[in-house]
Amino acid sequence: MNAGAYGGELKDVLVNVTVMDREGNILKKTPEELCMGYRTSSVLSEEYVVLEAEINLEKGDRRLIRARMDDLAARRREKQPLEYPSAGSTFKRPEGYFAGKLIDDAGLRGFRVGGAQVAEKHCGFVINREQATAADVMELCRRVSGAVKEQFGVELEMEVKTIGNF
Ligand SMILES: Cc1cc2nc3c(=O)[nH]c(=O)nc-3n(C[C@H](O)[C@H](O)[C@H](O)COP(=O)(O)OP(=O)(O)OC[C@H]3O[C@@H](n4cnc5c(N)ncnc54)[C@H](O)[C@@H]3O)c2cc1C
Repeated sequence: MNAGAYGGELKDVLVNVTVMDREGNILKKTPEELCMGYRTSSVLSEEYVVLEAEINLEKGDRRLIRARMDDLAARRREKQPLEYPSAGSTFKRPEGYFAGKLIDDAGLRGFRVGGAQVAEKHCGFVINREQATAADVMELCRRVSGAVKEQFGVELEMEVKTIGNF
């Protein structure tokens, strides 16, 4: 799904990916051929199974790399509600907006349905505050999307993949 954060995406370092298609053919694909976009690629649309990936990394100074890793990890700990279980950033970033800011502006910081809650620390995360069920999480997400659509006319699309109906 082309994971990314802080200005980088997996596609920036990928050289090629070996995949198997639904017929069992083994194919080697470049990032361009995989149409890698924001949290998407043809691995999802074509239902490929990734077998192997070649990644091009640059040599660097060990201490500088460690310092950058520590800095990014600290920024995550400071901004993200890592003290509660969550599936990470819940909604994709709508073009021209930030999901967390829209949810905050809609007055939903800390909003709860059952045990699920819009994190007070970062409104882009739905956390399991207290024994949340999948139904709590989905209902919360529906209400959040509904409120944002009503107030700002922006459609929030889930970044988290769900399995089943709740
Ligand atoms: C606290 C937190 C913070 C996060 N922050 C970010 C962030 O900043 N940026 C970001 O982009 N994401 C973020 N995420 C999401 C995370 O990057 C994705 O959920 C990622 O896909 C997880 O990979 P996994 O291998 O752990 O999960 P898995 O569940 O193993 O895999 C994720 C998906 O890939 C599929 N898959 C697994 N293996 C293969 C394969 N070999 N071939 C084809 N498909 C396969 C699975 O079926 C599934 O749909 C965050 C998640 C959490 C919990």
